[in-house]
Amino acid sequence: MSKSRPSFKYKVILSDLDGVLWRGSKVLYENIEVLKTLANEMNIKIYFTTNNSTKSREEYVSKLKSLGFTVTTDYVITSGSLTAKILREKYGEISVYVIGEKGLYEELAMRNLGIARRRKPEAVVVGLDRKLTYKKLAKALDYILNGSLFVATNTDATLPTNGKVIPGAGSIVAALIEASGKKPDMIVGKPEPWMYLEVLKRESISKDKVLVIGDRLDTDILGANRLGIDSLLVLTGVTSKTDLAKSSTKPKYVCNNLKCLLNNPRIL
Ligand SMILES: [Mg+2]
Repeated sequence: MSKSRPSFKYKVILSDLDGVLWRGSKVLYENIEVLKTLANEMNIKIYFTTNNSTKSREEYVSKLKSLGFTVTTDYVITSGSLTAKILREKYGEISVYVIGEKGLYEELAMRNLGIARRRKPEAVVVGLDRKLTYKKLAKALDYILNGSLFVATNTDATLPTNGKVIPGAGSIVAALIEASGKKPDMIVGKPEPWMYLEVLKRESISKDKVLVIGDRLDTDILGANRLGIDSLLVLTGVTSKTDLAKSSTKPKYVCNNLKCLLNNPRIL
């Protein structure tokens, strides 16, 4: 790559993972190469933001390293890791009841949020749990009805997995909303603003120097639009051109893949 590239308009990129770097088990090398060029040759900081709470930041760092990125956990924000951070900052070392998977438990433990055993927890934290049981759901409901905080890592209704769609954390949250008649006290994942605000705060950077990249209109792009951050919809994930045409949520840029970032003078 030539060193004579023009400087890039943005200083920080917030990139989604699934649908941008990979799609299920398929690695999207064309997008990965562009992000690496931006990071390594053009000095752009890249944060990886995902609503997926099932994996810890450590697990994502391993995966990203295996794809050739130089990255630490500071540059990975999952809905689980941010939920843990916010709970700890707002409420201290509270106890939690968890509907979720290993990655969520790990992130909560890293912030010293203890798992409540046999007594009412201060918060019920809900993420995707592919081993969800009726018993777990009933317990979470009981705690919510008895005053525990109701915290949703994200509200994605579904997620694509190997050509199929499976119920996401949002479907579990919806069951608890229906049963309790209560809305969550906190929703952390996109399109809520917390992940993007976290990076703006950490970098002390103005919004016009930030670009959000994602494959979903209702999370990645909507979240960016609400904050007035420029967004790029990449069509390598769940959204098709037809979906985009039908949606009232529009990104600033639309690209078939991320090569547009290096080729498109509108962005440069
Ligand atoms: Mg995605």
